[in-house]
Amino acid sequence: MAQGPSDGGDNVKVIVRCRPLIKKEVRDSEEIIVKTDSAMGSIQVTCPDHHVTNRTNPGEHNIPKQFTFDSVYGIGSKQMDIFTESVRPMIDSVLMGYNSTIFAYGQTGSGKTFTMSGNADVPEERGVIPNTFQYIFDHIAQQSEVTDPEAKKEYLVHASFLEIYNEDIRDLLCEAKDRHKLPLKQHPDKGVFVDGLSHHVVRNEAECEAIMRKGNSARTTAATSMNDVSSRSHSIFQISVESHSSINGQDHYAVGLLNLVDLAGSESQKKTGATGQRLVEANKINLSLTTLGIVIGKLVKGSPHIPYRNSPLTRLLQDSLGGNAKTLMVANVSPAESNYNETYGTLRYANQAK
Ligand code: ADP
Ligand code: MG
Repeated sequence: MAQGPSDGGDNVKVIVRCRPLIKKEVRDSEEIIVKTDSAMGSIQVTCPDHHVTNRTNPGEHNIPKQFTFDSVYGIGSKQMDIFTESVRPMIDSVLMGYNSTIFAYGQTGSGKTFTMSGNADVPEERGVIPNTFQYIFDHIAQQSEVTDPEAKKEYLVHASFLEIYNEDIRDLLCEAKDRHKLPLKQHPDKGVFVDGLSHHVVRNEAECEAIMRKGNSARTTAATSMNDVSSRSHSIFQISVESHSSINGQDHYAVGLLNLVDLAGSESQKKTGATGQRLVEANKINLSLTTLGIVIGKLVKGSPHIPYRNSPLTRLLQDSLGGNAKTLMVANVSPAESNYNETYGTLRYANQAK
């Protein structure tokens, strides 16, 4: 493998995004308990006065808990702010033939899908996936203006979309009747891959949009007592960019893979009241999220042993985490008082991963 632009902790970034209050929280007159300072990259969360733990630990509630990250995006942040500052450098690296992975972490309703997919119908609300496609196709279009044949590159872009549900891997882009478990395999040259996953040539943004919609609507969801349709699966949108150039009559090929991961909700299961099958799912989700946090934390510290094999999620992504690959963790939080426990939990998780 070629040497990457840099090694070690520089290739892993952890950022936090706090969404605005949603309509229901406004209706319930919820207090905002999160304060962000983008210039400092810091975020504070304060326990609400009437919170249950304050009755057992009176006096603790006034002390805000503060964290710092590579970047912090507050309530007013725009999709493009995140794309331009934090995502674009990763795509530049993919266009050069390196792998990258972006994770959206957070409780259900914290803005993971908004950040990754966004609202396709409102241009400024488009998320990381459509903005990435636009950037890649703009880059490819510029190649037609390159006149020096040695500098000219040809590109081929493919997309795949899969989910990990209960540790089983399924293709989100095949027919529902064919959507069975797919095995993870190891190839001496290709590395780890999902055997049987469909790959779709993408030529423009409209084709990307169609793939994103199709996959998102196929995601396994089930109602929990948080009275929402909550995502119990991790979804991974994969974009591979192959390039070909001819230098001194010799062919050069490079492939970069970008993984865009919308993780399952990180909420504690006490709050969702999971039992039976839901509880089995919950334990598997907790295990994969815990493993992911440990893997990222160890990559940052440069540990020699990285426990990729402890969950299907990290095993699947092991060639795109560490080494020359760039990793971005976006921790999403709600600003509302009713989400104090989960917000504090997400910030602690993100803090131990950096
Ligand atoms: P998750 O995928 O984490 O469950 P969603 O992305 O579905 O959460 O977000 C929950 C709700 O909050 C949605 O209605 C979404 O449109 C809204 N939302 C999330 N983030 C933002 C944001 N940054 N700006 C405006 N609305 C947002
Ligand atoms: Mg979601």
